[in-house]
Amino acid sequence: MGRVGLGVAVGCAAVTCAIAAALVARRASARARWRRAVALLREFEEGCATPPARLRQVVDAMVVEMHAGLASDGGSKLKMLLTFVDALPNGYGPPRFLTAALAWNEEGIYYSIDLGGTNFRVLRVEVGSGSVINQKVEQQLIPEELAKGTTEDLFNFVALALKSFLEREDGQDVKKALGFTFSFPVRQNSVSSGSLIRWTKGFSIGDMVGKDVAQCLNDALARCGLDVRVTALVNDTTGTLALGHYYDEDTVAAVIIGSGTNACYIERTDAIIKCQGLLTNSGGMVVNMEWGNFWSSHLPRTPYDISLDDETQNRNDQGFEKMISGMYLGEIARLVLHRMAQESDVFGDASDSLSNPFILSTLFLAAIREDDSPDLSEVRRILQEHLKIPDAPLKTRRLVVKVCDIVTRRAACLAAAGIAGILKKLGRDGSGVASSGGSGRATRGQLRRTAVAIEGGLYQGYPVFREYLDEALVEILGEEVARSVTLRVTEDGSGVGAALLAAVHSSNRQQQGGRSHIV
Ligand code: ADP
Ligand code: MG
Repeated sequence: MGRVGLGVAVGCAAVTCAIAAALVARRASARARWRRAVALLREFEEGCATPPARLRQVVDAMVVEMHAGLASDGGSKLKMLLTFVDALPNGYGPPRFLTAALAWNEEGIYYSIDLGGTNFRVLRVEVGSGSVINQKVEQQLIPEELAKGTTEDLFNFVALALKSFLEREDGQDVKKALGFTFSFPVRQNSVSSGSLIRWTKGFSIGDMVGKDVAQCLNDALARCGLDVRVTALVNDTTGTLALGHYYDEDTVAAVIIGSGTNACYIERTDAIIKCQGLLTNSGGMVVNMEWGNFWSSHLPRTPYDISLDDETQNRNDQGFEKMISGMYLGEIARLVLHRMAQESDVFGDASDSLSNPFILSTLFLAAIREDDSPDLSEVRRILQEHLKIPDAPLKTRRLVVKVCDIVTRRAACLAAAGIAGILKKLGRDGSGVASSGGSGRATRGQLRRTAVAIEGGLYQGYPVFREYLDEALVEILGEEVARSVTLRVTEDGSGVGAALLAAVHSSNRQQQGGRSHIV
């Protein structure tokens, strides 16, 4: 080989070595980036961990805050609001504590309106001889601009929707009593009036805060020429409890897990210390906890939760809700995936869309977690079509599923801890009952059957969420006690329940004497 030939050979070898070295370096750096993504995942998983011991701390904190919220206004982040509902409809037996069998004079057709965070429903409920004979529900999305517009626009929209619904139902015996489910914190003055404390779930109509919500709707109804008035202004939890109780008298609490989350339960009036002299015929009252605003240092909070809070209009509020409900779960997952995209290249160059807040809705999060195809084809489709991330390899798709799983599990476990907190406050968590040791017989006290009514798109539409919640309830309460607790979905409960409460509180009954007052 001549000198030239030798030179060329050496040159080629050098180039080959350089290419190989570059490839090795690239692979090493790809591995390092993948390791970074996995490290972020592990960190997130640890931050969200909800072992039974921690859940029990959350349960206890919930009980403490419930007491504090009942003791004084402003005593806790839990507002523990009076609802003035002291009688719940009971479809079957005779009236008992906190029950009111529907009387003949409440038979007829009642309407209600359910204004949630995302959805708006108009309902027609036919009540006859103490039972719901028929119900019809029409649902639509609340137009986004209304959530940030004016009071008048929002209530005109509501009143017009009712008007057009009634026109389509023409000729029917329309009662003048209307149930109005308004799923935001309201300080009630009576069962049919109350003022908005503040907005949640992305709503922000400034001139509305402090106004009487029922009056706003009554004004809009009058503007539309409708001779219908709000006789029951209820929170969605209260409506759900009313329907749950109607079907099952052991129902003592209701929980909403939809766009937002909240709960209410039946409390003894003498335990509502902040309202000394509160008198009701039944000795009890439904208390709207507004548990979305619950906070405790035991909650597993991550930096992503802080970023999410910063993005919202109600910073530092609704901390529990922001870890649990449908409005936020997809966004938490999006924040995690965005950080992964920034600190590793798991999503390649096409990850710009991940920087858009709220681009990953909770519906997608649920669909990703529930994809059980071997190649995660649904995950691929969602990444491609909705997040504009094509060609994510299988291991990246698995990573995305895992993120959605962690977000879901934490949310469901915290909701379970909240429910266990209510049961504990009511003495229905089994703590006064000695274990039967598997014999099926309790030696001290008896476990009472307890039902909790649940409603909301997230809970109803997402089976994995329900499974995790059930599992967590067993972990917290133990199998025996958990078996005594029935979680019952009440389809459209918040709206149908409001119609039933409108029936219970219709003018006839009110003429027979007010049910609750403060002396
Ligand atoms: P609202 O809170 O307005 O009364 P819903 O109770 O129907 O409405 O809850 C709607 C929310 O529930 C949606 O915003 C969404 O986040 C969540 N959701 C609805 N369906 C599903 C589903 N199949 N999987 C997961 N989340 C869902
Ligand atoms: Mg709702």
